[in-house]
Amino acid sequence: MYMAKKAFVCTKCSKSFPTNADLQKHMRRENGQTIACDKCGIRFAENSNLKAHIDMHNEEHNLKCLKCDKVFRHRSSLSRHMKVHSSN
Ligand SMILES: [Zn+2]
Ligand SMILES: [Zn+2]
Ligand SMILES: [Zn+2]
Repeated sequence: MYMAKKAFVCTKCSKSFPTNADLQKHMRRENGQTIACDKCGIRFAENSNLKAHIDMHNEEHNLKCLKCDKVFRHRSSLSRHMKVHSSN
């Protein structure tokens, strides 16, 4: 006897997904719901994308001036700051 595969179905468009996570992802996109980065406000539809984005922030956060140990959030800020040291 044929058993229907258990699937997670979108109530809006009847598309089915193999896992609940896939359905949730789809529903978020459909509803225009996104997760915002609390550091810069950029919004992402998928948690994994947000996570990768936050990793980027953490990396930026560690930018340190080699001459005075000042820490910068952005590469551009650091390079602007370096001019202070090079002007002497
Ligand atoms: Zn849908
Ligand atoms: Zn961000
Ligand atoms: Zn410096």
